[in-house]
Amino acid sequence: MDQPPPAGARRSPPEPSADDAGALFGLEDLRTGPARAGSARSGPLVGPSFRDSPAARRLLSVREIHAEPAAAASPRGRQILARFPDARVIDVESHWRIPELHGNEGNLERWVRIKSEVLVLGEKKTLATRPNGRSADWIAPGVANGCAMACAYCYVPRRKGYANPITVFTNIEQIIAHLGRHIARQGRKPEPNQCDPTAWVYDIGENNDCSVDALISENTADLVQAFARWPTAKASFATKFVNPDLLLLDPRGRTRVRFSVMPPQDSRLLDIRTSPVEQRIAAAADFLEAGYEVHFNLSPVVIRPGWEQDWTALLRHMDDVLPRAVKDQAAAEVIMLTHNRDLHELNLAWHPRAEDMLWRPDLQQAKRSENGSWNVRYRNRDKAEAVETVRRMVASYAPWLRVRYAF
Ligand code: SF4
Repeated sequence: MDQPPPAGARRSPPEPSADDAGALFGLEDLRTGPARAGSARSGPLVGPSFRDSPAARRLLSVREIHAEPAAAASPRGRQILARFPDARVIDVESHWRIPELHGNEGNLERWVRIKSEVLVLGEKKTLATRPNGRSADWIAPGVANGCAMACAYCYVPRRKGYANPITVFTNIEQIIAHLGRHIARQGRKPEPNQCDPTAWVYDIGENNDCSVDALISENTADLVQAFARWPTAKASFATKFVNPDLLLLDPRGRTRVRFSVMPPQDSRLLDIRTSPVEQRIAAAADFLEAGYEVHFNLSPVVIRPGWEQDWTALLRHMDDVLPRAVKDQAAAEVIMLTHNRDLHELNLAWHPRAEDMLWRPDLQQAKRSENGSWNVRYRNRDKAEAVETVRRMVASYAPWLRVRYAF
C-alpha cells in the first residue's frame, strides 16, 4: 500500500459492478446454508455447511497455500491443509515476507485471484492485547490478517499491499490462552462505559473479517466458544459478510457481531465482494436468535451529494424490517470515512469511480501517519457537522438505535 502502482499498471480494467459486489451472495445461496435445529425461523438442520456452498466458493476457492513449516505442522494447520486437499503447498520462511503475493502491482483481477485462491499459514509470534476505548475496551491479537473482500476504502492492506491474501494464524491455543490470562488479570469491569455496561469488550477482528475466516478454519468458532465461557468479557467483531455457519455456534450472548451498513448504492460501488447490505440487515434477527449480540457499524459515512437522503432511507429501512428484539439490544458506531493518498493513487488505476466519491480534497485534510504515508479525513468542521447530521437522522428515523460513539 505504501507504493503507488507502476505506470504500467494504470490500464483500465472493467469497473467493478454490482455483479462483483452485492450480487455475489444472493439470498438463494444463503438458504443452502445450514439451519439450526429447533429454530422456528429456520427449521431443522439441513444440508451441508455454507462454507461448502457455491456462494462461499465464489469468494474463496483455495488453490495455493504458503505455509511456515511450523504452522503447517500444527493441529490447526493440518486441519486447514486437509480442508483444501488439492491446494499446492509452498514452504515460506515468514508469513510477512512473500514478495510475489504482497504488493500493489497489477489490477483488481489479480488481487481478487490472489485473495480468493491463495492462503498463508503462519504463527503469531507476538501476542499482545492493546487498549482501545472506542469500538472495544481492548484489541485482541488477531487470529488472521487480510481479507478476501476488496472494499475500496479498506485500511487493512496498508502494510502488505492491496493484493494481500488472508493469513491464518495457526497457534490459536496460545492466542486463546493469552486472552484468558489477560481477562483474568482485569477482574470484573469496575464501571459501565460506552463499550459495554458490564463486560470487558475485546475486538477480535481488527485486521480481518471473522465471518470470512470461518470459511477457512475453526479459529472464529474457537474464539466464540472461549468467550462463551468467560463471564467478565465479550468478543466483538465487525463484518460485511453473512456466514450462516456462525449460527451453529453457541455464543451465549458473549460475542457481539457488528454488521457494517451504508446506503446500498454506496456499498455497490465501494464494498467489493461483500454480502449485500440488505442481506446483512436481514441476518440480524437470526444472529440474535442464535445467541449473538447484534450491533451495527454505520460506516464508513461518505459525504457526497445526496448522502443525507440515502442514509435516511437506510435508517428507515432498518426501522421497517428489524424486529423489536433486535432493536431492543442494538447499538451503533458511526465512523466517518478516512482515506489515504497512496490508496487513492492505487484505486485510480482500477476503480476511478470509487475515487470520485472517496477523494474530496475540497472537504478533506491530510495528516502524515506514523509510517510516513498521508491519511486524509474530512475537515474538522465538515466532519463535526456530518456527525451531528447522522446523530439527528438516527434520532429521527431509528430512535431505538443508541449511538455508542461517533467520530
Ligand atoms: S470487509 Fe473489511 S477487512 Fe475486508 S476488505 Fe472490506 S473493509 Fe477491508
